Amino acid sequence: MDLSLEGQRALVTGANSGIGEGVAKALAAAGAKVVVNWVSGEERAEAVVAEIAAAGGTAMAIRADVSKEDQVQAMFRRMIEAWGSIDILVNNAGLQRDFAFHEMPLADWRLVLDVNLTGQFLCSREAIREFLRRGPAPELSAALGKIVCMSSVHDLIPWAGHVNYAASKGGVMLMMKSLAQEYASRRIRVNSVCPGAIKTPINHEAWATPEAETSLLRLIPYKRVGVVEDIGKATVFLASDASDYMTGVNLYVDGGMTLYPGFDMGG
Ligand code: NAD
Repeated sequence: MDLSLEGQRALVTGANSGIGEGVAKALAAAGAKVVVNWVSGEERAEAVVAEIAAAGGTAMAIRADVSKEDQVQAMFRRMIEAWGSIDILVNNAGLQRDFAFHEMPLADWRLVLDVNLTGQFLCSREAIREFLRRGPAPELSAALGKIVCMSSVHDLIPWAGHVNYAASKGGVMLMMKSLAQEYASRRIRVNSVCPGAIKTPINHEAWATPEAETSLLRLIPYKRVGVVEDIGKATVFLASDASDYMTGVNLYVDGGMTLYPGFDMGG
């Protein structure tokens, strides 16, 4: 199976923490050069770059808020000036601002939609513009370019108390599928990885104590909380020629969380 990303150039948004960091390292281990995008926490971004270099890979950190058009465009310009083009975009940056719906301020609704959905729009648009400008590079990949969107099981499972987040991920699902449909004939592949519960700072309180972890495991048929490496492997697969016939797919990496675990006794 061809999982090599040798010679390819990847950009991972929000790559100085959690899943983004794990994905950046997995792509680098598969041979890609990786832009480690960050918006706050420069030290951690530089540490990820250094850890990738220490493992024999190539990376550079670029600051940009993915919800800001000018900053996203400047980030892509810098990457393309440095490395010539982009082959793989991973739209990972995301956040939560949780409220009971009737208490949710408009600003927190907007912030989550701006980062989680508009951020993916802005980065995908720049990537697709560059794939089309560059043209095919069959020595690197069968596809003209690949986009992997970090979605969530909550593009499928409703989530009380997190309506802004679930709405943003539901939006990512149909943005991803519509983009896949629009650009399949140009050989641009667009897919999503939909993580279940993965141990990262975003959901720290859900697994930080043994009691919290036991409660979380009731939702996971496979009886293990996920780790960032689980998502790194799935992302390398979707970015590589091993998945060349896949586009418009939601790949759930969730230990069975989307299998309606409440029905495991027959309902
Ligand atoms: P995290 O908080 O560790 O990482 C989020 C990253 O996004 C950070 O690097 C943060 O700085 C960055 N970010 C936030 N706003 C940004 C902006 N405006 N511009 C650029 N970067 C920005 O959380 P994580 O769990 O690693 O989450 C990564 C992605 O995975 C998110 O899209 C999240 O919704 C998704 N996800 C996570 C889980 C999980 O269980 N951890 C489950 C499903 C989906």
